Amino acid sequence: MTATPDASRTHDTASAALFDRASKVTPGGVNSPVRAFGSVGGTPRFIASASGSTLTDVDGNSYVDLVCSWGPMILGHAHPAVVEAVRTAATSGLSFGAPTAGEVELAEEIVARIAPVEQVRLVNSGTEATMSAVRLARGFTGRSKIVKFSGCYHGHVDALLADAGSGLATFGLPTSPGVTGAQAEDTLVLPYNDLEAVRAAFAANPGQIAAVITEAAAGNMGTVPPLPGFNEGLREITREHGALLIMDEVMTGFRASATGWHGIDGVAGDLMTFGKVMSGGLPAAAFGGRADVMARLAPAGPVYQAGTLSG
Ligand SMILES: *Cc1c(COP(=O)(O)O)cnc(C)c1O
Repeated sequence: MTATPDASRTHDTASAALFDRASKVTPGGVNSPVRAFGSVGGTPRFIASASGSTLTDVDGNSYVDLVCSWGPMILGHAHPAVVEAVRTAATSGLSFGAPTAGEVELAEEIVARIAPVEQVRLVNSGTEATMSAVRLARGFTGRSKIVKFSGCYHGHVDALLADAGSGLATFGLPTSPGVTGAQAEDTLVLPYNDLEAVRAAFAANPGQIAAVITEAAAGNMGTVPPLPGFNEGLREITREHGALLIMDEVMTGFRASATGWHGIDGVAGDLMTFGKVMSGGLPAAAFGGRADVMARLAPAGPVYQAGTLSG
């Protein structure tokens, strides 16, 4: 936060007024919980504009942006080339309910960069990507159970909002009202970086685990990289048991390296998910992977997945 000319404190009159209005028409006054300033206190700052690394709020305070929209804005804000591309696209019309050349180019770029991704489906958010990947893994394997790791966040998918905390293999308990016991029950929550727990879960649930989903490198409980051999171990164990490995690269994709975390440890998920940096701030995300798995997806296959604004 840079100091305003006359004081070390920022002014928040206009933000406070907007927050009052917002709180009347929106639960908690924000459209995503982390924006509420819940853990830091004070009034959420309403942003009026941004350029490069600098944010300006509606009271005229300026800030060095260390949040970067929680990930996507790796190019900084309002880069002239990005603005020009968005303007050009907008003047041609926004959505047609029919395919466009741009979607093909984006899919080709992802497939060219990330070797394990042979086919990709474009969606609107990271949550939609992981939700669809889990459904596809279940449809492909004909199994119900999913393994996730405590502290890994994969969006607000019902089945993935289960977290039994640390400890050994336990059935997931819903971490949000509205997620049913049945939805959480098929989710096994294991401690991160613990391959023994993964082996034990497969031994205790023979032929029932459809997929293991993991952040390629955990970034939602602070930064906790996989221990050497952890991702490789997940690759071996899932393969051995006929389950799929879903590498969630929504946070690391195109960010940890130009080819994401995959470019660093080389471990190939059967399915991989992308968002955040992939979209540069627009609501776009993707999931993709092995061609034989993706071939089960509608309209090529029977696993349904769709989206009015996808692509
Ligand atoms: C942010 C995030 C998601 C969810 O993406 P949204 O676009 O917020 O739905 C999923 N997985 C990981 C690893 C994330 O960091």
